[in-house]
Amino acid sequence: MIKRSFFGLVKPKLHYERIDEAQAEPVSVKASKNIMLSIEHPFESAKNSLLKIGDPVKNGQKIALTEKADDYLLASKSGRISNISPFVGILGKKYTVVTIDIDADSAQTVDDHFKSSSQTPSLEKARDLLSGLPGKPDFTVFFNTDKPVKTIVVMGADNDLLSITRQYFVKNNIISMKTGIDFLRKITGIHNVILIVPQHLAQVAGSSGATVKTVDSEYPSAHPHLIRQHVLSTEASSPDAGVAFFSAEAVSALGAAFNTGKLPLEKLITFISKDGTRRLVSIPIGTPLQDILNEFNENLEEGDQLIVGGPLTGISVYTTDSPVMPDSDTLIVQSKEQVPERSDAPCVNCGDCVRVCPASIQVNLLVRYLEAQQYQEAADQYDLFSCIECGFCSYVCESRIPVFQHIRLAKYTLESMKEAEENNV
Ligand code: SF4
Ligand code: SF4
Repeated sequence: MIKRSFFGLVKPKLHYERIDEAQAEPVSVKASKNIMLSIEHPFESAKNSLLKIGDPVKNGQKIALTEKADDYLLASKSGRISNISPFVGILGKKYTVVTIDIDADSAQTVDDHFKSSSQTPSLEKARDLLSGLPGKPDFTVFFNTDKPVKTIVVMGADNDLLSITRQYFVKNNIISMKTGIDFLRKITGIHNVILIVPQHLAQVAGSSGATVKTVDSEYPSAHPHLIRQHVLSTEASSPDAGVAFFSAEAVSALGAAFNTGKLPLEKLITFISKDGTRRLVSIPIGTPLQDILNEFNENLEEGDQLIVGGPLTGISVYTTDSPVMPDSDTLIVQSKEQVPERSDAPCVNCGDCVRVCPASIQVNLLVRYLEAQQYQEAADQYDLFSCIECGFCSYVCESRIPVFQHIRLAKYTLESMKEAEENNV
């Protein structure tokens, strides 16, 4: 067991954003000429793919590289495939990007596969047809026989600062959410559904048909790991208990799909401009981020940053051609002056990272191993894999050490090594 040092200062606090009573309706942004579907599948395996340049694609069509592939997306527009290319994402993850030149609005054609199969819904069909919906619902967790799922948690509280995407669905789409929750109960046979919301949305959440539980506004109380520890029952909070997490948007999309027989493929994003203006934007999945910037006349100057995700856990993207993904809840434009400085300054052992860490890790010691790239020692001696990836340590570090980035890289490196070893056995 790791002993903790004692730092006798006050823990810094950060609070989640609260959706305004009079929040404006989302601005609808169109894809200007193409959509790009970024599939988590290496390009090399696309050689014998089902997809070919020139193939026509229908709105709602499943886009996968092979018939049995788990990773797929749904085309949010009809059109024709104009390119299939490799893409290397954060930490060297390999993707295949399928570009679709879209048909004019008046010429959109719709895939009716979902409509015909929605009459007889099942968990298998949901896994094979609906994981590309906004909010990226994950049904694979129900097929893990080692950890049978007994509780479904719907997250109506946002997962990072500044975002109001999930709160919007609880506040404005509770009827669709109720249909989505009923659908989940029907296909899984699981009746214990818990809707997690901030305190101010507890009343409206009561119409969802789920058990409502609230989290406080202090970051990172809405993190799934902390929800399990502090909000769920003792039985459901055990690490061995199977719990399925869905976002409010994913559940609302399931409800809308079964209410209308049509797949909703517009993603809702909280968009923060350089001047701090916050807007909700509704946009087809796969639309290049540049189309959002164009809509709001947001110009990126040298040194500015585009961050997908919130300020603590988001990822800086290096091209505005990056597409809107089914789980992109937030997009932030930071001017050069707002980008947090990084420095080579050493750790001054101030202890702020230790005070804020919800996983009780001695981050000040862990970081020394990470900076020396001694990842196995970091895992064995300083609880690397207990980190829940909240990003709070980087935020508070007064030496501006990118602690969280070091942690992500270390975990990814060790996991890749383990996977390579297993594949070589
Ligand atoms: S990112 Fe990990 S180490 Fe850092 S504060 Fe969060 S849980 Fe702790
Ligand atoms: S890593 Fe940063 S926050 Fe943590 S003790 Fe060192 S200087 Fe302080």
